[in-house]
Amino acid sequence: MSNLRFKAVEEAFKKKAVVVSAPVPLTSDYYGELVFDKKQWTKYLPKDTVKSLTGVIEKGETLDSTLADSVATGMKTWAIEKGATHYTHWFQPLTEGTAQKHDSFIEYESAPGSQVIEEFSGKLLAQQEPDASSFPSGGIRNTFEARGYTAWDPSSPAFVVDDTLCIPTVFISYTGEALDYKTPLLKALNAVDKAASEVCRYFDPSVKKVFSFLGWEQEYFLVDEGLFATRPDLALTGRTLMGHESAKNQQLEDHYFGAIPTRVQAYMKDLEYEGYKYAIPLKTRHNEVAPNQFELAPIFGETNLAVDQNLLIMAIMKKVARRHGFRLLLHEKPFAGVNGSGKHNNWSLGTDTGIGLLTPGKTPEENQQFVTFIVNILLAIYKNNALLKASIMTAQNAHRLGANEAPPAIISVFLGSQISAVLDKLENSTSDQAIVMDPKKGMKLGIAKIPEVLLDNTDRNRTSPFAFTGNRFEFRAVGSSANCSSAMIALNSIVAAQLLEFKQTVDAKIAGGATKEQAIFEVLKKYIKESKPIRFDGNGYSDEWKAEAKKRGLDDETSVPVIYDAYTTSESIQLFESIKVFSERELHARNEVKWETYTKKLQIEARVLGDLVMNHIIPVATKYQSALLDNVYKIHQVYAKDKAAQLSAHNTAIIEDISERIGCIKLKTEKMIEARKVANKVDDERAKAVAYHDKVAPYFDEIRYHIDKLELTVDDELWTLPKYRELLFVR
Ligand code: ADP
Ligand code: MG
Repeated sequence: MSNLRFKAVEEAFKKKAVVVSAPVPLTSDYYGELVFDKKQWTKYLPKDTVKSLTGVIEKGETLDSTLADSVATGMKTWAIEKGATHYTHWFQPLTEGTAQKHDSFIEYESAPGSQVIEEFSGKLLAQQEPDASSFPSGGIRNTFEARGYTAWDPSSPAFVVDDTLCIPTVFISYTGEALDYKTPLLKALNAVDKAASEVCRYFDPSVKKVFSFLGWEQEYFLVDEGLFATRPDLALTGRTLMGHESAKNQQLEDHYFGAIPTRVQAYMKDLEYEGYKYAIPLKTRHNEVAPNQFELAPIFGETNLAVDQNLLIMAIMKKVARRHGFRLLLHEKPFAGVNGSGKHNNWSLGTDTGIGLLTPGKTPEENQQFVTFIVNILLAIYKNNALLKASIMTAQNAHRLGANEAPPAIISVFLGSQISAVLDKLENSTSDQAIVMDPKKGMKLGIAKIPEVLLDNTDRNRTSPFAFTGNRFEFRAVGSSANCSSAMIALNSIVAAQLLEFKQTVDAKIAGGATKEQAIFEVLKKYIKESKPIRFDGNGYSDEWKAEAKKRGLDDETSVPVIYDAYTTSESIQLFESIKVFSERELHARNEVKWETYTKKLQIEARVLGDLVMNHIIPVATKYQSALLDNVYKIHQVYAKDKAAQLSAHNTAIIEDISERIGCIKLKTEKMIEARKVANKVDDERAKAVAYHDKVAPYFDEIRYHIDKLELTVDDELWTLPKYRELLFVR
């Protein structure tokens, strides 16, 4: 068989699981060995340096050049021992993934031509100026003023990959605007820390710091490498632009939590070994709902570090997949008709005194605090539901939201019956004694102790995009390929702004003579009423909910380019400026980048689709049609006219069907190309993205429809593109 597809299938079936083994038997013995964290500091840095560096990280003290030099020296020694010959600033531009430019440690000892030595100074550690003119900046940094610089983030430890020391950094323009995800994330985390700490001190004056925690669940698909290589759409766009549903896909629900296939099991182990070397606390691995879909999740951690670890593990996942003859698909919807991939962001806040602010407490104070935070979060999400949706929306994720299993393109919050009952009770209570600060009296709401059963997952709703799950919220709408920062910036920012407002309102009431208890009680009651429309515990996938959400005034926009407008409403600008996370200029610039990225993604898809139509689909369909014609012709040679017509009727019908479909495909492809040309001429980035969304994208599904029908008709031997059953079930 000359068909590349069959060769690929044959090869894939022959592949055996790669043998992998742990570096040493006990995980804790090599855990974090490639990370320059606190454990290494004590070995490689002088005592004073460790002390000052801790001050920089924990108290935000300034980092001077002597300290940077001292850290750089220790870091270099450690990195060279780990096999590093190069170093790089590792940053998160507004494109996907991370960027890096490697420089060797070597320098001439004195004059050029003198002895070569390994050098790494504090200056090189602290700041660099990458020639980064090709990274998107939304016009903030025209190429003639291309300078942007990267600056060290000491709170995320450096690590060694292959021969290179990677230093996590922010990336900002010469004029100080953020060109990356990390800069605004750090600002948002700082804002939520400040605002939440103040609120916590109503309940416990000893609280000094509030941390934001993130536990991501990374979903992904694995596809055999050979099969992947014969699907140009997968290779170039990350998703299949065509392909008829496999007769069997996920309807038996036999993949979820089923036995992990052996080749995949080896992959997962290998991945974990690699992850542990980088101190990524990988905890959970399992099959997901769709065939060939899997999930990986760590133990949650501080948000900035958790984001970096997620980015690092995504890179490692790709690399390790190749070692096992797989390709990793992080696209949110690689296959139509089966589940897409998300990256649930489990999020919570916790104090430096060890209290989880979203964990129902054991004492009345803790529960008052818990209710205060839940209610403020609810209101923040209600007021900013459009913004929160904008933070997770991309060309890819749009395929997942609203479709099949996915959370709908409407943000709502699931609280569960017990927390809902608590809030309802509080709302209808008339006594300011409802919140009693005296632990001995307990709470009069019957919520002094919220039943433990909450933590027990019984009351779970999997259709909610934002669900309370006992001690955290699970933001499920985040896409699998996303940098979690985007969602975390929005979420932590809106909560920070809300908590500031709460504090101000409560303080004003206290200044007006109310007791603290009264003031908090009154404000919370008002907030509970106000935020009601965002609460929804029912089935988020139902059509009734869509209608109901519209009635409630929740944002139900589905066009990606239009959704981004939520970032630049006067409310959003005011919010981000007030907590110093984004300036108005940055918000506009970042939207430009988003629109541009959206357009480019669709542009590529349209081109690939056009090519596949012309080079694969039409030639193959025509070839099969010719074979049928040949058959009909021969029947007519052998049989009398009437008999021949009767015998060839079936094939004649197929011949006509093929002609019709090819006609449709050709016509629609031409129209799509026309629409693309028109869209390309539009100057304004937003209008261009809208044109792609409204005028180009609709052709994708129309063309696909006919291609998928042809796939069912045409002789399997001739079909060149691996089919869904092969992509999804060969492993
Ligand atoms: P499930 O699939 O049942 O939702 P997983 O165990 O796959 O749960 O993932 C849950 C994630 O939530 C893990 O990363 C876990 O560490 C994280 N998590 C647990 N508690 C918290 C918390 N208080 N704050 C943030 N993340 C948390
Ligand atoms: Mg989950």
